[in-house]
Amino acid sequence: MAVSSWQRRIERAQELAGQHPFAAEILGFYIHVARFQEDLHRRLSVVLQSPAAPLARELSGVELSELSPRFESFLSLAEAHGPQQLSKVSRELRVRGPSSWTELLNGAWNANGASDAQSLLALAFLQPYAEMLRARASLRPSQHTYAVCPICNRRPAVGVLRPMGDGAARSLVCSFCLNEWEFRRIVCPGCGEENDRKLPVFTASDFDYIRVECCDACKTYIKTVDLARNGRAEPAVDELASAPLDLWARDRGYAKLQDNLLGM
Ligand SMILES: [Zn+2]
Repeated sequence: MAVSSWQRRIERAQELAGQHPFAAEILGFYIHVARFQEDLHRRLSVVLQSPAAPLARELSGVELSELSPRFESFLSLAEAHGPQQLSKVSRELRVRGPSSWTELLNGAWNANGASDAQSLLALAFLQPYAEMLRARASLRPSQHTYAVCPICNRRPAVGVLRPMGDGAARSLVCSFCLNEWEFRRIVCPGCGEENDRKLPVFTASDFDYIRVECCDACKTYIKTVDLARNGRAEPAVDELASAPLDLWARDRGYAKLQDNLLGM
């Protein structure tokens, strides 16, 4: 049986947690979330079989009636295993009950990026459904100039370098549906800056296969995982484990282009 994308990410998280004790706690939470997401994906692919629906729209009543009741067990999971703040927000949401979840889920599905802990919880819960619809979507012609996901209009949480010919091609990975699309190497995904002197790249010895790609024009950064240097990496998971690079970048005045779904 083929190994699912969730299983690959879970195994990579376990491996990284062993290598980087400072990341063990957040990766442990991630593993709980990913197991839940895999299970939810399996259940939803049975009950929601519409062939191909776009992501950028309101959730239908049918979708909400399948999703909303399953949100409770996700909130319980985040309450039990999440970082303190997320755990507290999860408990509050669970106590507030299903009547408040529909609006939250629909709002998170439509918004262009999470703004608070509640929306993040909703997005992490909805992620497997977004990934499911993305897999069913027919690909649009590539629009490499845009730094938002061509499927769901969200910003990328991480970049990837894949070996190609003598060099490497860069692509960006959506923070929500995990769609990956090609993107020119020397251009800032935050503002489109193309002057390479304004686009410094940093690496650190702990994560020598992850480039911190900064922009001095808009003062944002994105981390890019170089798969030529580390073929075992799972970009979304290695992005999570390399939190020290985020501290480093923020200390130097750069803001992350897009937080990941665990709010980091
Ligand atoms: Zn997307």
